[in-house]
Amino acid sequence: MGIHKADRTLTWISINSQPLFHLHQSLPYAVVTTFTDITERKQVEEMLRNQAQRDRLIARTDGLTKVANRRCFDQRLQSEWPTLIERQKLLSLIMLDVDYFKRYNDFYGHQAGDTCLVKVASSAARAVKRSSDLLARYGGEEFAVILPHTDAAGAIAVAESIAEAIRDLGIPHQQSDVSEIVTVSMGIATVPSLGTSPDELVALADRALYDAKQLGRDRINCAVNQMKSPDFYPVVE
Ligand code: GH3
Ligand code: MG
Ligand code: MG
Repeated sequence: MGIHKADRTLTWISINSQPLFHLHQSLPYAVVTTFTDITERKQVEEMLRNQAQRDRLIARTDGLTKVANRRCFDQRLQSEWPTLIERQKLLSLIMLDVDYFKRYNDFYGHQAGDTCLVKVASSAARAVKRSSDLLARYGGEEFAVILPHTDAAGAIAVAESIAEAIRDLGIPHQQSDVSEIVTVSMGIATVPSLGTSPDELVALADRALYDAKQLGRDRINCAVNQMKSPDFYPVVE
């Protein structure tokens, strides 16, 4: 039981009642009640609960950018998959990679590279609006976005707003061949129209991203188009 003291602090009391009987009598002749202050125990329990919550959050978060990490991404995709297949639901995946990032690091330094990644991640996170969507750092300067209940057209719209948000940052990149500022390339794949497993979906989006790079970078390339043509072609130039 929680009791507020006069100074408004909360004290937790455990109340324990024990009936006392004479031999061969069914009614108790007394009841002994003990009151124990368990505030400290409660505080320790709460501290451990908070710590466990923090640990769970840390285990799912990327240390640098504070967006979800690769483990969180893998778990989400695996957990979405059975319902997705069973109910023929749509899901799109965007793979995003910063253009000419090695040159960025070489020219501006690794610390500036880190800062750039943090900015890119938070801009992308702001552009990903639905609570069911997940933006994660996939590794290095690569990010992935899981978009449940989203068709290819919806995913392209999200990718466009991510690209715009990153462009709006206006981070100078003197060494880029495509722009004076930091840009990204993105590959998109959608199920159920493409892909039969989480790995295959990732591979398709990755392939679309690779082709976006080959096609000149600073663009969005959609693997859905693979259904219509053997060649990938850019959706946004
Ligand atoms: P592309 O346009 O083809 O993607 O070229 P790129 O230079 O971006 O790609 P590449 O794979 O050659 O280089 C990626 C660079 O990203 C190299 C690596 O040092 C850098 N990088 C990866 N993780 C981090 C990080 O956490 N911080 C910083 N500063 N750099 C990172
Ligand atoms: Mg890159
Ligand atoms: Mg890369």
